Amino acid sequence: MPVRHLVLVLGDQLDLDASAFDDFDPELDAVWMAEAAEESTHVWSSKQRIAIFLSAMRHFAQALRKAGRPLHYSQMEDVSTPGKEESLAAKLRADLAALNPQRVVMTAPGDWRVLQQLKNVIEAAGLTLEICEDRHFFTTVHDFAAHAKGRKSLRLEYFYRELRRRHGVLMQDDQPAGGQWNFDADNRESFGAKGPGLLPPRATFKPDALTREVVALVNTRFAQHPGTLDSFAWPVTREHALEALQRFIEERLPLFGRYEDALWPGEPWLYHSHLSSALNLKLLTAREVVQAAEAAYNRGHAPLQSAEGFIRQILGWREYVRGIYWTQMPSYVERNALDAQQDLPGWFWTGKTDMACLRDAITQTLEHGYAHHIQRLMVTGLYALLLGVRPQQVHGWYLAVYVDAVEWVELPNTLGMSQYGDGGLMASKPYVATGKYIQRMGGPCKGCRYDPAQREGENACPYTTLYWDFLMRHQPLLSKNARMALQVKNVDRMTDDQRQAVVQRADAIRRGEVGAAP
Ligand SMILES: Cc1cc2nc3c(=O)[nH]c(=O)nc-3n(C[C@H](O)[C@H](O)[C@H](O)COP(=O)(O)OP(=O)(O)OC[C@H]3O[C@@H](n4cnc5c(N)ncnc54)[C@H](O)[C@@H]3O)c2cc1C
Ligand code: SF4
Repeated sequence: MPVRHLVLVLGDQLDLDASAFDDFDPELDAVWMAEAAEESTHVWSSKQRIAIFLSAMRHFAQALRKAGRPLHYSQMEDVSTPGKEESLAAKLRADLAALNPQRVVMTAPGDWRVLQQLKNVIEAAGLTLEICEDRHFFTTVHDFAAHAKGRKSLRLEYFYRELRRRHGVLMQDDQPAGGQWNFDADNRESFGAKGPGLLPPRATFKPDALTREVVALVNTRFAQHPGTLDSFAWPVTREHALEALQRFIEERLPLFGRYEDALWPGEPWLYHSHLSSALNLKLLTAREVVQAAEAAYNRGHAPLQSAEGFIRQILGWREYVRGIYWTQMPSYVERNALDAQQDLPGWFWTGKTDMACLRDAITQTLEHGYAHHIQRLMVTGLYALLLGVRPQQVHGWYLAVYVDAVEWVELPNTLGMSQYGDGGLMASKPYVATGKYIQRMGGPCKGCRYDPAQREGENACPYTTLYWDFLMRHQPLLSKNARMALQVKNVDRMTDDQRQAVVQRADAIRRGEVGAAP
């Protein structure tokens, strides 16, 4: 019997309750999933990122079969076959011809590129595509567009407050719990000289037979891709994800807020949740994560500064960047407001740099596919911004290396928030700082061959040199920004000799004479 509805499930839509299944009838309908090599090669994906997607997809296929939903699953082979097309579009084209469904149904995809590809194939096959709203999120793209209408710049705060009110999250009647919307000022502590002390162990999930199979496949087929899989321990099923959520709430949430912005050498996990990949794969819903944090506050387990700080990331930032992505694409990806044209240094793919903070952040990224927000924004992102790397190259790197990297969330964070490529649509100013900021937040400056306090000379921290170079290069633009004016004024206090020394050293850094490990 021909298939009535063919329900497409992408690698980041692994939810049995997704809206595309609302009308699912196992007697008439079927599910379609495909592993496509192109999804791992259109950016040079790290082994951790490829493995988490493939393993989570194969586990989800098991869950679908267990739920009695007929499934057409196309598995990737260990080696590529020359001439065989391995894109999602090609696989779908072939399967539509074979299955001849009456209609194709899917939950709205997160990625603009994938949506266009699939739409084209389905249209060419003369079929109708029904796209269902993704109710994983609190808001729809239309809600965001309505909020954004008529605003010159978009700021998180008002959108977030609207959502707190609308969904009654951390509210007492119509007022925010604790009388304040925002506890950011309390959430900027570093660990001090003694460091973080004993940290709770991270929730890890020992690879089962299915994951081991995927690890072997990735190590063979994607052997040249960055990173390693020796430590692969991410949640890849709904059960794992629920356990990871519970462990975070019990063990880390109480100190999440206080140390949200802190760094510490050799400590990748700190008090963060490590839930982004489970959320983005849709193994967890945003609502259940927010509810769990709110409940922990209500029962007195976590202070308000932590619960609010954490909820702001999910109910606030995560929804907000999705709105930015879908209202600004496809032109957003091309934006380059600062006209940055430098290439990304090659050592971003290996960690072979003599700058201790970058070595730490990149090495751990390649080992685990993870870095916390301040490492992404104020270590790797800040360096690329100060150096003047083309935002599209920075975007390619972030999309490739993290286990949680999907374009709708990665692109606005990278191009908008971190690189100021959208000229201030998302961030009110470029996030720039010297090496002293990294030192203050607990960075490894003590063990580094550079000195964050020095701007010029052989031992000058490259961040510090490049910060002053950045202010000089963009002085006319930045002095028009009220939030940058004070910082930029300091350039006027520099002598000509000092300026020249900064420019010379910055040029040497750009030529690659400084920064690469010997
Ligand atoms: C340059 C850059 C690139 C980034 N790329 C991604 C990406 O590809 N995928 C991704 O999920 N996040 C991305 N982020 C946001 C953030 O850094 C990660 O979500 C976070 O580090 C994941 O670790 P965690 O789960 O321990 O987060 P926690 O610190 O525990 O935060 C809790 C949750 O809040 C959400 N969140 C936190 N910050 C943000 C944010 N700025 N935007 C959207 N959601 C947020 C995540 O779902 C996260 O799991 C990026 C940030 C920057 C600066
Ligand atoms: S001195 Fe500069 S390069 Fe070295 S760890 Fe500190 S901030 Fe990083």
